[in-house]
Amino acid sequence: MNNQEVWQAVLAQIQLNISAANFATWFKDTKIVNRQNGLVVIQVPNSFVKEWLEQKYNKIILKILRSLDKEIKGAKYEIGKSGLKVFKKDLPTYEEGQLGFQEFRVNKETNLNPRYTFETFVVGSFNELAHAAAVAVSKNPGSVYNPLFIYGGVGLGKTHLLEAIGNEIVRDFPKKRVKYIPTEKFVSQVVSAIRNRQIEKLKSKYQAVDVLIVDDIQFITGKEKTQEEFFYIFNSLYEKNKQIILSSDRQPRAIPTLTKRLESRFEGGMIADISLPDVETRMAILKEKCQERMFEPSEEILNYIASNIQKNIRELEGALNILIAYQKVNGLLPDIKTTKSLLSKLTSSPKRVVNAKKIIKAVGSFYDLREKDIISSSRKKELVKPRHIVMYLLREELNSSFPSIGRKLGNKDHTTAIYGYEKIAKEINQNDDLFEEINMIKQRILSG
Ligand code: ADP
Ligand code: MG
Repeated sequence: MNNQEVWQAVLAQIQLNISAANFATWFKDTKIVNRQNGLVVIQVPNSFVKEWLEQKYNKIILKILRSLDKEIKGAKYEIGKSGLKVFKKDLPTYEEGQLGFQEFRVNKETNLNPRYTFETFVVGSFNELAHAAAVAVSKNPGSVYNPLFIYGGVGLGKTHLLEAIGNEIVRDFPKKRVKYIPTEKFVSQVVSAIRNRQIEKLKSKYQAVDVLIVDDIQFITGKEKTQEEFFYIFNSLYEKNKQIILSSDRQPRAIPTLTKRLESRFEGGMIADISLPDVETRMAILKEKCQERMFEPSEEILNYIASNIQKNIRELEGALNILIAYQKVNGLLPDIKTTKSLLSKLTSSPKRVVNAKKIIKAVGSFYDLREKDIISSSRKKELVKPRHIVMYLLREELNSSFPSIGRKLGNKDHTTAIYGYEKIAKEINQNDDLFEEINMIKQRILSG
């Protein structure tokens, strides 16, 4: 295993343990520059990252390094010297879910990663509608489903699908200008354009594209000015029959504080969801990934992974990364016993305990509310419903007594808890949106 491969294996594991935002902050533009006599030298972009890695991540980094190579005794962090640019060019980007051993460069013009194509996208009942819509749009950009809105949980293939549409259009319609942008990036562009009085320039840049792909649009939540600018760009593209493709972790209606006019714009096109793959599909995905990576574990091992890793496709890939790293170091395929121990951290996740705190936290993060407000006595509509959902989930998931539910929600009376529980219990059978929202919250509770 060369240095780059070792570091990718380390990143693959770290990525599974920390949030995407933290991962990007602390591990972007890092690499191993030397590995000799048991000492690994890791290059980092600045002193801030250096300090942070030394203090917070050194232990886990070392632990993973040692699991890959027993000879390793220590790690040292070094600030990259000259030419950050050259250094960046050498590295594949480690944006969400892009960890692989093959190197792909993001196209500067379109911002698309060529790694994501329809050819490598496995279709099953969990994603077939989204896939079919994506294919249709890529064949006829601007004229079939506009906008195309794809939603689903983390790691289920939204980015892959969005970028596949973009790559396909670039290939088949070379004249069309395609632009892919994660919402966080768009938000920061708007913010700095406003500050630099360049907002008109930014808008005309976006108005000039033929296909605009905006990933994770839920992050536009609460950013009014950005929503306004986005609405403007959206409309002017839409009126010119330019294709707009969006993704989100939930459907438009469930995005808190999304302005009504944006919501109805999104709903005017095609909305398709991606749910969880079943075990057969997980198996098919694993086989596809193994083929891509030229990795050939036994059927028994594949079966073990497919039946034990259920959360999302990113975790399936994470499991493969760990096994591939093992094979590279040891020169042999792990057997089933080794596989179980290598993957123990991942496979134990479904058994994670659910408790009241996690429920309140998941509801809060879903509706973008502070815990404090959920348990308050305020009767604001945007607080009452989430509060009732917490009551409902405490009862359904933990079988808590009504008096205890009342206490957990800021010392309320048990009759209040009963009321809240019953309201949701009744409504959930009549309201598909609510049913779906609660399912998404449940998924968060399990993964939180
Ligand atoms: P999301 O954007 O929904 O969080 P991603 O598109 O980043 O998820 O997917 C996570 C990882 O899983 C990526 O590496 C992606 O290539 C892979 N993946 C997701 N769905 C599929 C699929 N249907 N077939 C093959 N790989 C998939
Ligand atoms: Mg994504």
